[in-house]
Amino acid sequence: MLASGTYVYCGSAYGPGGLRARVGRHMRRDKARRWHVDQITGAGEVTGAFVFPGGNECALVAALAEFPSPVPGFGSSDCRTCASHLLAVTVRQPP
Ligand SMILES: [Zn+2]
Repeated sequence: MLASGTYVYCGSAYGPGGLRARVGRHMRRDKARRWHVDQITGAGEVTGAFVFPGGNECALVAALAEFPSPVPGFGSSDCRTCASHLLAVTVRQPP
């Protein structure tokens, strides 16, 4: 179980409908839970999405590596490069 917080998920969209269909699916709560990320998007609130046509989720994880903390094994079971495709973000509260 994940701690309550803010997370960034890096994914791809090679299936039918491409990026539009995939992002739309992530935004819906009511769906069959097919991937790890469905556990989060079905229970939490998706606050936004950044879309990079032609991008690569592993390269994005690498680019973000210095900021958030990876959640080991999440969303990367078919990836041999990344420890995770889900990154926990520490949100600092104002003093
Ligand atoms: Zn990866």
